[in-house]
Amino acid sequence: MAIRFYNTLSKEKEELKPLQKDKVRIYTCGPTVYSFAHIGNFRAYLFMDLLRRTLKYNGYKLEHVMNITDVGHLESDADDGEDKMEKAARKENKNPYELAKFYTDVFMSDIEKLNIDKPEKIVKATDHIPEMLEYVKTLIENGYAYETSKGIYFDITKLDKYPVLSNRKLEEQIAGARVEVDREKRNPYDFAVWIKAPENHIMKWESPWGLSYPGWHIECSAMGRKYLGDVFDIHTGGVDHIPTHHENEIAQSKGCTGKIPANIWMHVEFLQVDSGKMSKSLGNTYTISQLQERGIEPLAYKLFCFSSHYTNKLNFTWEAARAAQVSLDRLRSGIIKHMEGTEKIENTTLEEYRTRFLEAINDDLNITNAMGVVWEILRNERKSMNFRNLLCEFDSVLGLKLETINKEKTINNEEVPNEIKDIIQKRNQARKEKDWKKSDELRDELQKLGYIVKDTKEGMQIEKVK
Ligand code: AMP
Ligand code: ZN
Repeated sequence: MAIRFYNTLSKEKEELKPLQKDKVRIYTCGPTVYSFAHIGNFRAYLFMDLLRRTLKYNGYKLEHVMNITDVGHLESDADDGEDKMEKAARKENKNPYELAKFYTDVFMSDIEKLNIDKPEKIVKATDHIPEMLEYVKTLIENGYAYETSKGIYFDITKLDKYPVLSNRKLEEQIAGARVEVDREKRNPYDFAVWIKAPENHIMKWESPWGLSYPGWHIECSAMGRKYLGDVFDIHTGGVDHIPTHHENEIAQSKGCTGKIPANIWMHVEFLQVDSGKMSKSLGNTYTISQLQERGIEPLAYKLFCFSSHYTNKLNFTWEAARAAQVSLDRLRSGIIKHMEGTEKIENTTLEEYRTRFLEAINDDLNITNAMGVVWEILRNERKSMNFRNLLCEFDSVLGLKLETINKEKTINNEEVPNEIKDIIQKRNQARKEKDWKKSDELRDELQKLGYIVKDTKEGMQIEKVK
């Protein structure tokens, strides 16, 4: 079945036609690790997760690179202000490398909590300084970049067209930039590819232009090219990347290779809080841990993100988050009900659901429609293991850990002996018949045999007492 994605470049939904048969090559702009990633950032990585899982479900292999920005992202996406890493390091009185490691570790642990399928390669900007330097040298050799006292700048007028991704008029871009005019730049909208480091700057490297550090945009151009070649299939990021970061990445690639680096450019819209901007000053940039502290599981946040298409804004409220937690609990109990059912569902019915689910996700990741199919199956009056299995198959796209619900493995991950399984089966039946006395007796019997049964939100868990 064809897969169609909205391409910011063509402003149309296009059929995915990978450059290599059976394999899709993707680059995702990763986090800037100067602070805790917030739930808005994770909306972007949940979109990435859905994209990966959808492509895999369609049988594609993936070669996917995500960078970690640990240098060069200035306070504004253009060339304004200080390097975010250096500023945060000074504030926290830490070395920027230590700081990057700390926030990268927290980020990766949140990625695990959200059951995000990780890109095949996750690479740090600071590990690719030589590649970036080479890239800058090529831009200069090709006549696209020039030196000033502040660094190396890209000359936008050398391009046939700029911008290509956004509809913004350059005049508006200049007027809106609020950047002091730099008289050394050939054009006000030229951007830095390499920045000369001030004396007290910690992250800096030897270069033909003295001690200096890379601009944010050059990182992605150099790392994308190193791992995926001059042209790959999909480039992803947030909508904030469209007017500057991705526009400038395209400019650099054209200057270096003459090509636009990706065929399809996909951008995820912003998460808002209480219908407004998320910002540190408003104190509403929540983290995944803060959600957990208030009883919202990371997977409930994932389910919450499924309530809107990635190209639409999504509004976070605590009420909506609590509703998502209730939905997740319902989803789990729905799975258990199907597990306890004995109906045999005919293949045509299963196939019909499968097709509808696939049609939804292949239509530009239409997760709200796909979830509609999931809820329909959960609500189906006929309770059956066939439905449970189908939902677990869909879970390879959803990543909600549906497989683990009531799995007959102990939480110490040991196989459950058949004798114990039989008792569990009897207990399930007793609970189905609302025979709580019998259910309790069977629980005691299991305990005597060294197994503790807990009925949790995630379904029944079995623990072997050591
Ligand atoms: P940063 O760490 O600032 O480079 O951002 C990491 C990712 O999060 C980027 O893809 C941004 O586009 C994305 N992002 C930042 N804020 C939000 C938000 N409120 N909603 C969705 N994505 C966001
Ligand atoms: Zn990037």
